[in-house]
Amino acid sequence: MLSNLLPKSAEHYQMLIDGAFVDAADGRALERVSPAHGVLISRYARAGAAETERAIAAARQAFDKGSWPQLTGAERSKYLLKVAALIERDADHLALLDTLESGKPIAQARGELAGAVDIWLYAAALARDLSGDSYNTLGPDKLGVVVRDPIGVVSLITPWNFPFLIVSQKLPFALAAGCTCVVKPSEMTSASTLYLGKLLQEAGLPKGVINILAGTGPDVGALMTSDPRVDMVSFTGSTRVGSATMAAAAPSLKKVSMELGGKNPQIIFPDADLDAAADAVMFGAYFNAGECCNAGSRLLIHRRIAEEFVQELVRRVPHVTVGDPLDEATKVGALISADHLAKIESHVAGAVSDGSRLRVGGQRLFADRGHFLAPAIVDQVTGKSAISREELFGPVLSVLTFDETEEAITLANDCEYGLSASIWSQDFSTCIKMGRHLRAGTVWVNTFMDGASELPFGGYRKSGIGRELGRHSVADYTEEKTLHFHAGPRTARWLPDHA
Ligand code: NAD
Repeated sequence: MLSNLLPKSAEHYQMLIDGAFVDAADGRALERVSPAHGVLISRYARAGAAETERAIAAARQAFDKGSWPQLTGAERSKYLLKVAALIERDADHLALLDTLESGKPIAQARGELAGAVDIWLYAAALARDLSGDSYNTLGPDKLGVVVRDPIGVVSLITPWNFPFLIVSQKLPFALAAGCTCVVKPSEMTSASTLYLGKLLQEAGLPKGVINILAGTGPDVGALMTSDPRVDMVSFTGSTRVGSATMAAAAPSLKKVSMELGGKNPQIIFPDADLDAAADAVMFGAYFNAGECCNAGSRLLIHRRIAEEFVQELVRRVPHVTVGDPLDEATKVGALISADHLAKIESHVAGAVSDGSRLRVGGQRLFADRGHFLAPAIVDQVTGKSAISREELFGPVLSVLTFDETEEAITLANDCEYGLSASIWSQDFSTCIKMGRHLRAGTVWVNTFMDGASELPFGGYRKSGIGRELGRHSVADYTEEKTLHFHAGPRTARWLPDHA
């Protein structure tokens, strides 16, 4: 264990409300113990109803009376560029916070920080390019102008698996649009988002524009979604909580954006580059210990090559280094909690008792510390079994087989989720056909989990509503307003001239 990187004592974080870092009125705090080391690393001031109320009021005031929505795109862009530079300056520290709190490998966390910086830069560019539309085709005395107003106060709620990356998929775009925000990270991984609050202050963002609360879903998130002063909710998390969040937002008819779960197929045809496909399948299944909405947790493999391919995967599994996330060589770190580890184990046991076969892994590692699971492969899985349908969120790959392309499409789409999928084939027609027919927000062809700030990301069906990233990501935080102008004397009078 690289104990020199572990904090000597728990760091205390305050919440950010109306430009000030404060503790909870009742002095309560949440504590986070590193899931890999069992060491208390963070203590956050715990928000409750009173703090949530103040944060929403501050965001409302900053939107209704403050300067932020009135700034030019160029001015908001400058702020975002400053924040990007500050994140880059402190990237190693932010990566360490995410590693300590989530258990993810440090080298991977640094990669996520680099990705986050890129997103802030992209949002800064888009801030200057937000525009509407115009119509001079409505007649000589008419002009139609469509403008985009910032939608208002936005609640941003994020999960624990990519703490800094996911807040960066939301916040810079909401800010670029001119919105003000209340942000709630997961109660298990709040440190990097609270630290971001310091960077936003350092960049000089006006008070109240961003408010950050550490707290639980029921205490804080529920109020952030139901409060009528909030205009939009952007949520990333589980499908179950996403659905509850939509229900809470419904009475006040808020706009909602939902990035939810996935059970993503990786589909391999016999003519694929099988060496590359095997590497990508391992990456897709075990990256971030499988705690990834995009995890390629369902392998759909052509029956003709299935056994040989699975044997090759089994051979490679011992090369997936599981261990201390602070070690540069680690590929798979700790799972988020003891409960989560137990849940995944019980899924694997259930699959075996239902007739599937555990080919490798699935056992706990390092009994003396942390929540570690050996990467597992389960085959002889059917499309009906729970392990092939439910999002496990752990390092477990289920193997299903197919004979025909049509069968692969049916199997892939026979799922309540639709976040992402990948196809491996050298045949152009197979790739096009699969790409066209898979019901998923992203389809990778001969690659897996590539991402770019320019490309929209989101899901079909129970994987969500709306898209993040991409050129429309700022516009998502706006309302369209039509300005319909008429010049000259009134034409087409409603009442007769003498009335
Ligand atoms: P979760 O749904 O338990 O929690 C997500 C957030 O919602 C947390 O901040 C939590 O405190 C908050 N929350 C809980 N109850 C709430 C309530 N009643 N009202 C408002 N907020 C509430 O999810 P998690 O366990 O933190 O994260 C894992 C899930 O996130 C997985 O299902 C994963 O697929 C999903 N995820 C999706 C994407 C995507 O982009 N599609 C990305 C990452 C994670």
